[in-house]
Amino acid sequence: MTERVFNFNAGPATLPLPVLEEAQREMLNYRGSGMSVMEMSHRSKEYEAINNEAEANMKELLGLGDNYRVLFLQGGASTQFAMVPMNFLQAGQRADYILTGSWSEKAQKEAAKLGQTHIAATTQEGNYKRIPSLEEIQLSEAPAYVHITSNNTIFGTQWQSFPDFGDIPLVADMSSDILCKLFDANKFALIYAGAQKNLGPSGVTVVVIRQDMIEKAATNIPTMLRYDIHAKNNSLYNTPPSYSVYMVNLVLKWLKAQGGLAAMEQRNLEKAALIYDVIDNSNGFYTGHADKDSRSTMNITFRLPNEDLEKTFASEATKQGMIGLKGHRSVGGMRASTYNAMSREGCQALSDFMKEFMRKNG
Ligand code: PMP
Repeated sequence: MTERVFNFNAGPATLPLPVLEEAQREMLNYRGSGMSVMEMSHRSKEYEAINNEAEANMKELLGLGDNYRVLFLQGGASTQFAMVPMNFLQAGQRADYILTGSWSEKAQKEAAKLGQTHIAATTQEGNYKRIPSLEEIQLSEAPAYVHITSNNTIFGTQWQSFPDFGDIPLVADMSSDILCKLFDANKFALIYAGAQKNLGPSGVTVVVIRQDMIEKAATNIPTMLRYDIHAKNNSLYNTPPSYSVYMVNLVLKWLKAQGGLAAMEQRNLEKAALIYDVIDNSNGFYTGHADKDSRSTMNITFRLPNEDLEKTFASEATKQGMIGLKGHRSVGGMRASTYNAMSREGCQALSDFMKEFMRKNG
C-alpha cells in the first residue's frame, strides 16, 4: 500500500500527518545536533528543552498555572490504576470509583488490592450504555479521592460535563479523550492518559498533577511509583521514553496551531455528527450502543443487523482504505475511533461508505 489509510483504530491510533512529516524531517539530524532525538542523551540540553516545552505546551492547552505539574511516565494508564491508590489511598481511608466501563472496572479492582474502595455509581447494567446522572452518584464519607473515566473507549460513552465534588480530589483517566474539548482542568487533582490515542505514540503516560497532591503523595512506596520523585526530577529521575515525549510535544504544537481546545471541540463535534447522523437516519439498520446523551465524540460504537453484515462491512471498508473498524468483543459490532488526529475527510469517507453500504444491504 502506497497511500495512507484512514485509520480508525482505538490505539495506537492515527497521528496528524504534519506531525509525522516534521518527525521525518528531523529524524536524522535534529536541529543541527547531528543525531535523531532517539539517539540523544536524556541529560542533554536539547532533550531537556523538549521535556520542558512539552510540559509548558500541555499546561498552556489545559489552561493550568504554576500549581500543576505535567509528568511523562511509563507503564501506560494501567500502571496509573495502581499508582493512584498507592500514592493517595492511605490505611483507614476509602477511595470512590464511578464505573462507566471496563477501564474504570480495572482501575477500581487494582485499587481494591491496595485499600478500601467504594463504588459510587455504576452503569454496568445495560452494558455501560451511559454515563450516570449526578443524582445517581453516592459518595462515601470523606473519600480520599473520586476516580472517573472521562471517555469509555470500548463502549463509546463520554462524560458531557464533569462532576464537582468540592474539596474531594477528582482523579480522571482521560486516556481516550484528553485535549479533545474545552474543559476546566483546574477542577482535577490528577489526570492521567496513555499517549497512544490522542497525544502521540505509545510508550509515554502523561500525568497532570496538582501541587498539593504531590505534597501529600506517599513516600513509603517503590521509588519509581512515587509522584513526588518524578515531579522533583522533572520526569528525568530515570531514562524517560524520550522519543515518545518528543512526539507528544509535536502533537501539542500541532494542536495549538489548529486553534487549541476550542477549535478541536468544534471539529470533533462536526466529525462525530457525520457518523452519528447516518446511524440516526438509518431506520434501525445501524444501532448505536451508547445512549444519545452519553455519546462519545472519540469512539463511535454501532451495530449492524447481523454479524455477517458486520464482517462484510469491515472487510469492504478495509478495501476502501478505512481500517480498524471492528469493535471490541465486549460490545460487538463496529467502533470508529475519531480522535483529534482523524481528519474530517476520514469521517466524511466513513459516513459516505456507511450510507452506500446501507443502500446495498438494507
Ligand atoms: N484507560 C482507558 C480509557 C483506555 O482506553 C486504555 C487503553 N485502551 C487504558 C486505560 C489502558 O491503557 P494502557 O494500555 O496505556 O495501559
